Amino acid sequence: MGKDNKTPPVHKQVPGTNFIVDGFNYFAPETRDWFLTHFHSDHYYGLYSSFSKGTIYCSTITKRLCIEKLRVKPWRIREINPGETISIRSLQVTAFDANHCPGSCFFLFEVPGKGRFLHSGDFRYTPLMQRYRELSEIDVLYLDTTYCDPKHRFPTQDEMALWIAQETKKALRNPDVAIAIGTYLIGKERVLLRVWEECQHPICVTPDKMQILRLLDLPCDFNQVFTLDSRISRIHVVPLGYLSFNGIASLKKRLQGFSEIVGFSPTGWSFSGKSTISSQSFGSVTIFGVPYSEHSSFEELKEFVSFIRPKKIIPTVNVDKSGRLDKMLSHFHHIVSAPENKGNLFGYFQKSSFQSDESNASTVEIEQECMIVESSTSDLASKWCRRISSSSKKSTSPILKYFIKKT
Ligand SMILES: [Zn+2]
Repeated sequence: MGKDNKTPPVHKQVPGTNFIVDGFNYFAPETRDWFLTHFHSDHYYGLYSSFSKGTIYCSTITKRLCIEKLRVKPWRIREINPGETISIRSLQVTAFDANHCPGSCFFLFEVPGKGRFLHSGDFRYTPLMQRYRELSEIDVLYLDTTYCDPKHRFPTQDEMALWIAQETKKALRNPDVAIAIGTYLIGKERVLLRVWEECQHPICVTPDKMQILRLLDLPCDFNQVFTLDSRISRIHVVPLGYLSFNGIASLKKRLQGFSEIVGFSPTGWSFSGKSTISSQSFGSVTIFGVPYSEHSSFEELKEFVSFIRPKKIIPTVNVDKSGRLDKMLSHFHHIVSAPENKGNLFGYFQKSSFQSDESNASTVEIEQECMIVESSTSDLASKWCRRISSSSKKSTSPILKYFIKKT
């Protein structure tokens, strides 16, 4: 249902301003400044080529995607990249790398006389974020609560990307096997680059996917890593939806001619709570659900909030039911910086007259569209689970360092 005639919910607003964050589909006649944290459809929903309601602020990569995919007028967009501060209507806005998908940012708004407001957008926390010293004395943190439940405790991205890369390498030893790796329109690129590092085997993509990948400034020799020629590659990038019961027919059609297909579905939603990696077989097709997430795990959320120590938290995802909101906020009661506010974490929602809009305002995360593979841990996966749990903490890979740019 469109919301063009509805007022933006509190978690899309910046107090003391008319700024809107990731809320193009709301009615805000006073608003001239629209912020876009990243190019996932649940965040740019409502943005079209005809946009004429003011200025859009986003990173260079997100700008390219808006122009290429949505045909937004270039002159409607003002770039703000991680590490940059710009002045808009006498207040300061700073962007930080959100470690979510290429081009993703979170924004700090410093509003004189009102406070310092941090909109996280979607993000995956990494301790490297603790070097963002500007993130102190935050009054309100608008938090990506996609996985705000203790059951979401998946491994690091490095571990899961490496696992997929190593299993791909093993599978390639059999010339009759094709490998399918699921991705979104953008997102999961780090997995692809890790696979390339490990296998040195070109990765086949569709022309549409190739066009998108070229916009992302990926840290690789692009023409060596990606190809359109399926005759020279057995590693194929496919939509995540193909790696599900309903998508198997499409997958087989795409990879016809192979006697066996091994698929990897890298998403935090594949974590069952019982096993780290799940697998399921559909005849000649085996699909691994790998909890490679581009959102923060529950423990990472807590670590991030401990680092930020905001006075208030406003969840931005899964906010459809007040009971769920209370539960999410309860995880942070002992962390927030202002004791007097502990009973008032919920304050902005209670005061808001827009609370009824929250039902669909909860960002219907694009990841939820993909299938959660039923848990049936294979021997292979069990071995890996043991390896992960016994492994020591790894250093940051060069790829992660690329995505977390210096600020
Ligand atoms: Zn996202």
